[in-house]
Amino acid sequence: MNNNKFDVCIIGAGVAGGTLAAYLGASGKKVMVIEKMMGESDKIIGELLQPGGVEMLHNMNLQHLIEGIDAQIVTGYGLFYKEERIQVSYPTKEGKVFTGRGFRYGKFISSIRKNLKSIPNVTVVEGNVIELIEAEGKVIGVKYIDKHSDEEIFVEAYLTIACDGSGSLFRKKLSDAAQTVSSHFLGLEVKNENLPYHGHGHVMLLDPSPCLCYPISSEVCRVLIDFPTTVAPRKSEELVTYLKEKIAPQFPEEIRQNLLMAIDEGKFKIMPASLVPARPKLIKGAILLGDSFNMRHPLTGGGMTVALTDVYTITNLIKNIDLTNDQILTSAIKEFYEKHHYNNASINILADALYGVMLDPQLKQACFEYLKRGNGYAAEPITLLSAISRKRSTLLKHFFSVAFFGVNDNLKYPTPSNVGKAFNMIKNALQILNPLMLNEQPGVVVKSALKVTEAILK
Ligand SMILES: Cc1cc2nc3c(=O)[nH]c(=O)nc-3n(C[C@H](O)[C@H](O)[C@H](O)COP(=O)(O)OP(=O)(O)OC[C@H]3O[C@@H](n4cnc5c(N)ncnc54)[C@H](O)[C@@H]3O)c2cc1C
Repeated sequence: MNNNKFDVCIIGAGVAGGTLAAYLGASGKKVMVIEKMMGESDKIIGELLQPGGVEMLHNMNLQHLIEGIDAQIVTGYGLFYKEERIQVSYPTKEGKVFTGRGFRYGKFISSIRKNLKSIPNVTVVEGNVIELIEAEGKVIGVKYIDKHSDEEIFVEAYLTIACDGSGSLFRKKLSDAAQTVSSHFLGLEVKNENLPYHGHGHVMLLDPSPCLCYPISSEVCRVLIDFPTTVAPRKSEELVTYLKEKIAPQFPEEIRQNLLMAIDEGKFKIMPASLVPARPKLIKGAILLGDSFNMRHPLTGGGMTVALTDVYTITNLIKNIDLTNDQILTSAIKEFYEKHHYNNASINILADALYGVMLDPQLKQACFEYLKRGNGYAAEPITLLSAISRKRSTLLKHFFSVAFFGVNDNLKYPTPSNVGKAFNMIKNALQILNPLMLNEQPGVVVKSALKVTEAILK
C-alpha cells in the first residue's frame, strides 16, 4: 500500500468525522482524516447530547470524549407554557438512569481531535478537500489543499466518507436531497445561576415560536431563540427591542434578568435550522454521514445522536470486510443506508413534527396539556426525545393522541366554530407529519396511505 493510500478517507473532523476516525481506527482500519479548520470552534451547534448519543459513545468505548470538558449532566426537561411549567425526567431502565450532557461544541470537538492523536493508524491533516477523485465509475479518493504548504494533494482510499457538515460540498454528488431552511436560532450565553430546573433542558413554548435553554458549562447556559423565518434576523436596534420587549417577558422570571443582561451585551450568534432528508445516491466508493447526509430541526437536539448512531453502524458494517472487493463494499453501503432510516427515523420525524406543532397555537396548547397529564403521557414521549427509544409506532401514537386530545377538548362544546377548529387541528397535524414520514422510507402500505391523505389534504 503506498503511503497515501488508506482504507478510509474521512472529510471533516467534526462530531461525525472525528468519532468515526476514532472508532474505525480502533478497529484496525488505516484512516486518513482531513479537516479544514483545526482551531477550537466557537459555533453554537451541537451542545446538548441526548442520552441516546451518550449511550452510543459508551457502545464505541468513546465515553472519555465527554470527560474533562466541563460537560454538565442533564437529567430531563422543563417545559414552560404561559404561566405553567412541568418537569419530565429522562427514562430509567432496570435501575439505570439515562443522562444527557450539555457542553460547548468547540470543547467537545477539541476533545475528539485530541483523542485522534493517540490512535496509531489514524492520520489527521489540516486541509480543505476540494474534489472527489473518480476512476472507472467509482470514487477512489480526494484532492485537498494542504493548509500549511498550500499544495494540492491526492489521497487514495477504498472508501471516502464525507462528514463535511451542513454546508457540504459533496452532498450534491452523493445525494438527491435539497437543503431547506425551516427557521433561524439566535444564540446567547446566559449565566447558569437560578435555572428553574437544575441540570435540565428548558423548552419554552413562546409566542411566536419556541426557545431553548440548557447548561453548556458550570457557568453558563445556552439560550436559543427561534425566529420562524427563512431569512436570518439582522443584528439591529429593532432586534434588541424585539428580544427585550417581546421575548424576555415570556421567559421564566428566574432567568429573565440574566437574559436581559446577555441581550445588552449583544454577543449574538445566528444559525439556520435546516432540513435535509436522507436521499442517498448509490455511488461506488463514497458515502455521506452526519449533517452532510441528513439534517433535522435542532429543537430536539438530535443531530449528534444521529451522527453517532451512523458512525457506530457503518463501522460495524465495514470493519471486518475486504474493502478491496467492490461488491462486498457496495452491499455494506446499501445496508448502511437502510439502517440509517430504521435507526433514526423517529429522531428526525420528532424534531420537525414538534417544531411544526409549536408553531400552531392550538396544537401547541394541546401538546402542553397532554404532557401535563404526566405518567405515560410524558414518560413515553421523553424516551423518544432522549433517543433511548427509536420506535416510530410510539411516536405516531403520541403525535395523533396530542391532536385528538385537542380535538376532544374543542368538541366538549361542539359549536360550529369549535368543530371547525377541531377539523383544522387534524388537518394541520397531518400536513405537518405526512412529508416527514415520506422522507423516512415508509413501507409500501404506509406510503400509499400517506399519498392518499396528501391528495385529500390538497
Ligand atoms: C443551531 C443549532 C443547534 C444545534 N444543537 C444541537 C444539539 O443541542 N444537540 C445535537 O445533538 N445536535 C445539535 N445540532 C446539530 C449538530 O450540531 C450536528 O448534527 C452535528 O454537529 C453534525 O456533525 P457533523 O460532523 O456532521 O458536522 P460538524 O460537526 O459541523 O463537522 C463538520 C466538519 O467538517 C469540516 N469541513 C467542512 N468542509 C470541509 C472540507 N471541504 N474539507 C475538510 N473539512 C471540512 C468542518 O470544518 C467541520 O469540522 C444543532 C445544529 C444547529 C444548527
